[in-house]
Amino acid sequence: MPRFFCSADAVAPGGFALFGAPLDVTTCFRHGTNRGPASIREISEGLEDYDPISRRSLEDRVFADLGDLDMSGSLEDSHNAITEFVDGLLAKSARPFMLGGEHSVTPASIRAMARHYPDLVVIQFDAHADLRPSYEGTDWSHACAMRRSLDFIRSDSLFQCGIRSGTREEFEEMERRNYARNLNSLPALAKTLKDRPVYITVDLDVLDPSILPGTGTPEPGGWTFQELDSALRILDGVRLVGADVTELAPDLDPTGVSSIVAAKIVRTLLLHP
Ligand code: MN
Ligand code: MN
Repeated sequence: MPRFFCSADAVAPGGFALFGAPLDVTTCFRHGTNRGPASIREISEGLEDYDPISRRSLEDRVFADLGDLDMSGSLEDSHNAITEFVDGLLAKSARPFMLGGEHSVTPASIRAMARHYPDLVVIQFDAHADLRPSYEGTDWSHACAMRRSLDFIRSDSLFQCGIRSGTREEFEEMERRNYARNLNSLPALAKTLKDRPVYITVDLDVLDPSILPGTGTPEPGGWTFQELDSALRILDGVRLVGADVTELAPDLDPTGVSSIVAAKIVRTLLLHP
């Protein structure tokens, strides 16, 4: 299996450790997230290592690509495998960087992250609030990704960007808890976080379907590529301890552009200090 462009095969302390979690079980509408990590790696060969905006290059970064976890067992087994793997990476002082897979992989990672960093902050980019207590018979559905994450982090430590779809209850909770942030309010947020450990989770459907059609639950009215890219660069000063990029279903986009967009978002995050 190809590795992500420029990656090493061993974990370096402080460096990002990429791994795939190609889970595709609770995606309710259209499947295909099991092909996400492989497609991002394949397409990464075509990326430039140099980023002219930050003037940083992937070649100057030490990051590993450790391949994919086995997601063929039960949903619970798969989530447990992610938590265990992230625990192991944190024991090596690496920064976990997960490629999804459906968004339900995120709370499995955060379960380990929050044990290691009790004051962990989670910043979510998503079209969907993902605050449902349960969905279609499971409370570990991708529609519950942030509800489950809140089982592990403080209720004042979640920030949500790009949300434009959800239930009345979800939107009322977002308002009550002041979860929502937009591009204009991100610089102030970045400042208030100071040295707190931050985990960024990108559900790619935050982007408008015209930018990224290759996802299972596309939601019109989304962010442009530049908006998401800018948001991630505004967060350049935060202490990023882990990240994930989820919900790419590459085969739903016959042009292949969705995978290129996803790989470029991964590159921007990998170039974070
Ligand atoms: Mn979503
Ligand atoms: Mn989501």
